Amino acid sequence: MLQPLTLIDRQNAQAFNEWGNQVGQCIGCDLNLKVSLEPSSTRTLVLASKETYGISVDAPVSILRFAKPERGLGNYNAGDLVGIIAPDCDIPRYYSLASSRSDGFLEICVRKQPNGRCSSFLSGLEAGQKVTAFVKRNPEFNVKHSQKPLILIGSGAGIGPLMGFLRGLRGRRPVYMYWGGRSKLSDFLYESTLDEMKDRGDLTALSTAFSRDQNPVYVQSKLLADEGNLRTQILQGADIMVCGGQAMAKDVSNILSDILSPLKITLADLKSQKRFVEDVY
Ligand SMILES: Cc1cc2nc3c(=O)[nH]c(=O)nc-3n(C[C@H](O)[C@H](O)[C@H](O)COP(=O)(O)OP(=O)(O)OC[C@H]3O[C@@H](n4cnc5c(N)ncnc54)[C@H](O)[C@@H]3O)c2cc1C
Repeated sequence: MLQPLTLIDRQNAQAFNEWGNQVGQCIGCDLNLKVSLEPSSTRTLVLASKETYGISVDAPVSILRFAKPERGLGNYNAGDLVGIIAPDCDIPRYYSLASSRSDGFLEICVRKQPNGRCSSFLSGLEAGQKVTAFVKRNPEFNVKHSQKPLILIGSGAGIGPLMGFLRGLRGRRPVYMYWGGRSKLSDFLYESTLDEMKDRGDLTALSTAFSRDQNPVYVQSKLLADEGNLRTQILQGADIMVCGGQAMAKDVSNILSDILSPLKITLADLKSQKRFVEDVY
């Protein structure tokens, strides 16, 4: 009654704390809610390597690869989440996994947010340094066992889990990938790995869009330009997986709805069949 309805996405502790603060203000009492999502078993991860992109276009993203811990963390798949407990952070922050346990390492892509505590901590790590972490399963965003086509769509650090899916599939499904960054020269994450995957046939087609290059393009324009192919793949039973920021995800959903419209299929139909899934933050 004091506040409009607030929805908390997947136990997001930050959003829950913000809601608690707002309710506290309404009732004139500092609620200071503490949510503890920290599981009893955390593990120490050691950073093996770090590659940073996007500094010159004001969108720093680091690919952080940690050595696989000897024990603990259990089984994990690309698209699951790793919770990181950074020093001086009251609550863990979640990052989407770009690797599965069978890859032999644990990888994440982290966009450094302005004054962001955990993302700045992670971006500043050097090889050999350690973090406290745990894994949270996210089965809704794991890739299905299927031979039908797969359409992967993302932007920025959202490429992380999509790369993890590609690594795991090794060409077992036709995969069409659409990804948007800012500048081909500055923040084209995984460029050489993607080239190798295309050469091996593990990636059927890659379409990239860069918003700060000479002819700015966004990922949704690439989808529209390829609408015929997308309809063909969807009629053949393709799954669609989207990962990245909320603005991109909204634009992508709108364009996909338009593309689906002549087929008399809605995005809601695909969602209910678990053929359209998103990991958006
Ligand atoms: C399910 C899930 C998966 C996620 N996966 C990833 C991932 O793979 N890679 C990744 O980089 N992040 C991911 N995130 C976001 C991540 O969990 C953190 O929220 C993010 O790194 C910011 O935390 P921080 O401690 O650095 O910022 P905070 O210290 O909490 O915030 C500092 C400032 O940054 C602003 N800020 C924080 N996040 C954003 C944002 N996304 N956009 C704009 N401003 C922001 C805040 O408003 C605040 O002003 C995911 C989040 C969820 C819920």
